[in-house]
Amino acid sequence: MNNTEGLKELLATPKKIFITTHRKPDGDALGSALALYHYFLKKGHDPVVMSPTDYGMFLHWMPGNDAVAIWEENRDKAKRILAGTDIIFCLDFNALPRIEEMAEPIRKTNVPKVMIDHHLEPEGFDDYRLWNPDACATAELIYEFICQMGDGDLIDKDIATCIYTGIVTDSGSFRYANVTPHVHRITAHLIECGVDHSQVHRNVFDTSSENRLRFIGHCIKEKMIVLPDYRSAYITVNRQELKEYDIQTGDTEGLVNFPLSIDVVSFAVLIVEREGIVKLSLRSKGSFPANEFAKKYFEGGGHHNAAGGKSDLSIEKTVARFLEGLEEYKSLLLNS
Ligand code: 5GP
Ligand code: MN
Repeated sequence: MNNTEGLKELLATPKKIFITTHRKPDGDALGSALALYHYFLKKGHDPVVMSPTDYGMFLHWMPGNDAVAIWEENRDKAKRILAGTDIIFCLDFNALPRIEEMAEPIRKTNVPKVMIDHHLEPEGFDDYRLWNPDACATAELIYEFICQMGDGDLIDKDIATCIYTGIVTDSGSFRYANVTPHVHRITAHLIECGVDHSQVHRNVFDTSSENRLRFIGHCIKEKMIVLPDYRSAYITVNRQELKEYDIQTGDTEGLVNFPLSIDVVSFAVLIVEREGIVKLSLRSKGSFPANEFAKKYFEGGGHHNAAGGKSDLSIEKTVARFLEGLEEYKSLLLNS
């Protein structure tokens, strides 16, 4: 953290704290936000968690979920809350466009902004930052933040459960290369603080609807294209399919990992037609830079092995652009 002492001083008296994270928050985004929420409550502050949009039902069990406000569900109220805020915490993103319509109101708000994040290339909107692109999750940095504030002993079961959820979801259940012995030590402490890790896994990974699983079956059987000559695979999903299977926010989470699990595949992409936009989830194994590909072709970014992007083109033209990209990256793919 840059200027830890300055921030400690700022937080020495009770503050109204606005905690936000990226659109369609995942387990790391929401886990980080709720962990901080519980911590600030304990410290006598008045925190609020504001999500730009809704999020998957697989996260609604989290402690503090009922206190989360959603910007796009009540913009007037959200703007009033923002106007009365003393300090803003921005978690799990580092460029304001990632919070879409909240970006300008936040940018214009003249109170200190703290960024806690693990993505590459921060935009620089923040006054204080705890930033480490080697962290496996923002939640890992939330743990560090609480310790740096001198409050490691305040971590209780709720805070620990939220941090654990962030770490387990962003690290692919402790699978990715950025999981270090330090992460496992943090995790051991979280379990000592009372996390029921087995229950967290059931809540997050074993609460799918039947529809969702049939949808995944449909995507794998009917929609997955494997291109061994490019060590790649992709799945497209159109709006009609989303409707037919009653797909809700969060239901496509994890789908892109199925094509990636094929031995000859090093790069997998899920292409989903949303309202007025096509969204892409890109995943790679090993050395292939999914974030570079996302940035170059789909106005996106993210991490080396997990990135996202978008396209204004039709789904067919988006696929054509993707295939052009594969051609350009063919030698890198074959050597990955
Ligand atoms: P997902 O595929 O789960 O939506 O996103 C994977 C990763 O890519 C996340 O870490 C997220 O931060 C990043 N990401 C997703 N969508 C975008 C995007 O539109 N722009 C940028 N810069 N990053 C994204
Ligand atoms: Mn994250």
